[in-house]
Amino acid sequence: MDREVRVRFAPSPTGPLHIGGVRTALYNYLFARHNGGKMLLRIEDTDSNRFVPGAEDYIIESLKWLGIGIDEGVGHGGENGPYRQSERRDIYRKYVKQLLDAGRAYIAFDTPEELEAARTATPNFQYDASTRGSMRNSLTMPAEEVKRLIDNGEKYVVRFKIEPGRAVVVDDLLRGKVTIKSDILDDKVLYKSADDLPTYHLANIVDDHLMGISHVIRGEEWLPSAPLHVLLYEAFDWTDSMPHFVHLPLLLKPDGKGKLSKRDGDRLGFPVFPLEWHDPISGNISSGYRESGYLPEAVVNFLALLGWNPGDDTEIMSMDDLIEKFSFDHCSRAGAKFAYEKGKWCNHPYLQEIDAAKIAEMFKPILREHGVNPEDYSDEYITKVVGMVKGRINFVKDLWDQASFFFTRPDSYDPKAIKKRWSPETPAIMNELISQLEALPDFSSAAAEQPILDWITSNSYHMGNVMNAFRLAVVGECKGPHMFDITELLGREETINRIHTAIERIKLDEPTV
Ligand code: GLU
Repeated sequence: MDREVRVRFAPSPTGPLHIGGVRTALYNYLFARHNGGKMLLRIEDTDSNRFVPGAEDYIIESLKWLGIGIDEGVGHGGENGPYRQSERRDIYRKYVKQLLDAGRAYIAFDTPEELEAARTATPNFQYDASTRGSMRNSLTMPAEEVKRLIDNGEKYVVRFKIEPGRAVVVDDLLRGKVTIKSDILDDKVLYKSADDLPTYHLANIVDDHLMGISHVIRGEEWLPSAPLHVLLYEAFDWTDSMPHFVHLPLLLKPDGKGKLSKRDGDRLGFPVFPLEWHDPISGNISSGYRESGYLPEAVVNFLALLGWNPGDDTEIMSMDDLIEKFSFDHCSRAGAKFAYEKGKWCNHPYLQEIDAAKIAEMFKPILREHGVNPEDYSDEYITKVVGMVKGRINFVKDLWDQASFFFTRPDSYDPKAIKKRWSPETPAIMNELISQLEALPDFSSAAAEQPILDWITSNSYHMGNVMNAFRLAVVGECKGPHMFDITELLGREETINRIHTAIERIKLDEPTV
């Protein structure tokens, strides 16, 4: 690296952080850490019309939950603050003046109605070198008039004066050199007197320069702004500090064509926000990865792979692994389909790393939701249940599906299993099984298994049928962990009661009981 790596995540607080924005933040972070650099968080809140209360806190909390560490910025401090753009007006005013004094920008008074009229009169009207001469601005009006209008408090904007005939080169680490003609650019508004704030373009590049940003890593949607940013660096004579650009590929719909949207999430049932979002205006609630039971490590792992790969087929990587392997060499330029099914699968290995006792705590509210009071069971019991089934789940909430029978007796029996495993002889065999279970000196899994299997073999019973009928009686379905582990935990009395109940309730002519 030719200079100290300093990157920034620069969201606008216009709503909850979209999952695409989270990936941008993550790639910035991975790149910074891989190169021993710094990661900044700058809040770009210069568009007061789009400001949404709570959005900034939401962004900070999301990054914290995901473990995307910030070295400098809003909520963290640092030497280059303030990091909230609405608090940097004085700084921007100075740079606006610098451009005006150098003749690189000009003041324009055109009202929205005048601009509308120009658009109507001229198809494809663009405020640029070919039209600025006929508009109401400091290039066409006498200096005294300009001063008089400003003194009178007339609203104005400052526009960047783009010279036509230039080939503007954006050097993008992923896309190579992208050249565009300056003729197609319009004289963008850089500052509005109405709210005494710069627009995104000016604030963004002034801050990137002052904060020593070495790499601008952001979504592809910002690529069209990049030529203007290059020209602004030139106008300020800052080309030596021009950052490298990286415009990340779009996140695409999991199916079909086009950009991933919140509607895709609603349609296909996955969150597009890291945390649940309560919209302060509409009151609507949008689901989040955190509340849906995803572990932050899994979300990070899954997002990292949307547009990047480590150069081999490794898929499960911790944040440290990602930091070690990350570079733009293996970043794709093509849009990445949002493979949310993979996200579910990604949660599995991370869940397995968590201690069963900790998962048991997370399981308690779910038990309550299903009408089971966890206080009726010891922590040891719940932990043992978790230990037995956690290998089969992707989310803590799936524990109920896998393990409800440890807390409630079967209220029905799977009709398919009855058909396959419960014959007219089964009740008698189950009664015999009850006697065998009653006679066991030790009901633990290890001690109970062999004698029961021996009893089945010595009677020449069908092993699969007897064991599955046993399971059906105790669990309600032919699923679950090792049978004798289940019965050990349920205990002798409960196991035998369940077999009695099944014998009574499973009537072959009414298979669905
Ligand atoms: N404020 C812009 C955003 O909301 C920042 C774009 C950039 O990183 O330059 O994404």
